[in-house]
Amino acid sequence: MCDFCHKHGEGKKWYLRAENYAEDLLSDLRRRNLISRFFGQPEELGKGINQLGQLEKAPGFVRRVMTSRVTKKMKKQHFGQVVPIEEVQKILEFVTSIVRVSCICRHITLGSEKRYCYGVSMAPNGGKFVQILRDIDAKYLFGPDPTGLESLSKEVALEAFKEHEKEGLCHTVWTFITPFIGGVCNCDQSDCLAMQSTMRYKVPLIFRAEYVASVNPDLCNGCRQCLHLCQFGAIGYSAAQEKVFIEARRCYGCGICRAVCKKNAILLQERQSVPLAATLR
Ligand code: SF4
Ligand code: SF4
Repeated sequence: MCDFCHKHGEGKKWYLRAENYAEDLLSDLRRRNLISRFFGQPEELGKGINQLGQLEKAPGFVRRVMTSRVTKKMKKQHFGQVVPIEEVQKILEFVTSIVRVSCICRHITLGSEKRYCYGVSMAPNGGKFVQILRDIDAKYLFGPDPTGLESLSKEVALEAFKEHEKEGLCHTVWTFITPFIGGVCNCDQSDCLAMQSTMRYKVPLIFRAEYVASVNPDLCNGCRQCLHLCQFGAIGYSAAQEKVFIEARRCYGCGICRAVCKKNAILLQERQSVPLAATLR
């Protein structure tokens, strides 16, 4: 279990507690201000990731100190966790509204609007969270029609997540001053700032999922479809056996490989039950 499960989930998965999505958490002015700054000043996020890039050139001890500081600060403010599709489904079942918006990361990294992010709320029509977004100059979030919120039913949202999974995107939940969760996103290493920070610059901003994948060699035919989609470099191929294998210590438990496997050869297991990966976060 990650830190947040212990601190904000009473030892269970913290992102499955409805309290962590509660509308009254948005009465906190600090949280409202953070959300306004986050979405209203995308250029600041771009600067932040560039600074992490600079950190690569710093001496080892400076890097270690700064990495620890950034991660500690972000755990309080804006931190994510990978969640497989079955956990997304559980979240979609208990929230009251789901609103699709453009991804701020793709807005920064690609300069294009990709509607990969979902605001989830315990209030109708996105509640106070969406009201905060409406009050700032972040019209890109809503697409060409600034009044056009894209509200989705639970069923339509779940199907959209499944489609994102087929595209190779991994699902993540996000806090806005922890433990409040305001969104579920669909990420990849190429264009998501938090994944770049975590994977490329080794400054963790995302916990691994509470799961780890494994391959049933009796079912695997060695097609390697899964290998190409893993965002975390956790899948290898054995030429001798003509099958893939999953390196449990690298696996983030997103389940993308499972979604693409036509042989149903990949399973997700609870992280706690896999000794090699149980303590990795
Ligand atoms: S997609 Fe399935 S069958 Fe193909 S290599 Fe991966 S685990 Fe094996
Ligand atoms: S091996 Fe692990 S990290 Fe890679 S796609 Fe599969 S579940 Fe995700």
